[in-house]
Amino acid sequence: MSRSTLDHPFAEPLAPGQVLEVAPGIRWIRMPLPFALDHINLWALDDGDGRVALVDTGLGNDATKELWEVLLAGPLAGLTVSRLIATHFHPDHMGLAGWLSRRLDVDLTASVREWLFGRMLWLEESEEFNDNQVRYYRRMGFDAEQLDGVRSRGNTYRARIDVMPVRVLGIRNGDEMTIGGRIWRMIEGGGHSPEHACLYCEEAGVLISGDQVLPRISPIVGVWPQQPEAEPLGLFLDALARLRHLPADTLVLPSHGLPFRGLHARVDQLTAHHVERLEKTQGACARPASAVQVLRALFTRELDAHQLGFATGETLAHLHHLMRQGSVVREMGEDGIWWFRRA
Ligand SMILES: [Zn+2]
Repeated sequence: MSRSTLDHPFAEPLAPGQVLEVAPGIRWIRMPLPFALDHINLWALDDGDGRVALVDTGLGNDATKELWEVLLAGPLAGLTVSRLIATHFHPDHMGLAGWLSRRLDVDLTASVREWLFGRMLWLEESEEFNDNQVRYYRRMGFDAEQLDGVRSRGNTYRARIDVMPVRVLGIRNGDEMTIGGRIWRMIEGGGHSPEHACLYCEEAGVLISGDQVLPRISPIVGVWPQQPEAEPLGLFLDALARLRHLPADTLVLPSHGLPFRGLHARVDQLTAHHVERLEKTQGACARPASAVQVLRALFTRELDAHQLGFATGETLAHLHHLMRQGSVVREMGEDGIWWFRRA
């Protein structure tokens, strides 16, 4: 995917624990992640009178807590945290929401469906949860060994969350927050998570895009076992189309990768990427195929168990989008597998 149309005003990534002002009153914080995607960007918004609003928290582990302590004793020393905002429930964004909320004596601000989903998964310990995971991945065409892996891994969300807060200050699409005398508007995303909050400040010309728009990689858009009939790709593309109405020169602050200008170009690239994936997906359904078989047409590289789960969800998202368009049909086989073929 070409990136040549994007302008990156800051060419170098920040080191962990460092803070950099990327626009007046808006500071960039970077936290490490122990994954192939090795970092997350967080944001600190000056709120006037020695106060600051934080956006996203990093993963719920000791390394991230230690970096927060460094920041709170260093670049953020003496500031009162007026708001703790999370864009969505994924563990790199909400993993320390509860810990920071207690540490800083501030309630979490998030959309209610994101908080509910995170709180639900964090509390989830039932055997039914595992049964449902296995049921879903069997339909996708996982073999017996892969299904054993699904069962033994269980709920992988819990381990990446420190504490999920017991209460939330809910925000929804269109809500406005005044931070540092400027209005930040919540723009609801879609497709990547249940009610993803993007934050837009017209006065600053800045969009905190979370995981909805990323400069280099395509955000994961997946169908997951809790909602196996979902059609998230339609939601994702609709959300991109809404964001494209923002000014072309908006400075986009994404959760992964470098800040950039070129929102319209990036929306167009991401849309084109999915159109191309939809064509490949449809091509893979010339003969009846399981989701795992279709996946091989979309992901040619080796995938570990974790990546295979994500790739499966992403593949099913494309299949369900084609089903809604009427170009692919699905049948349940006697083997308990969903078989997809061209209509
Ligand atoms: Zn995410």
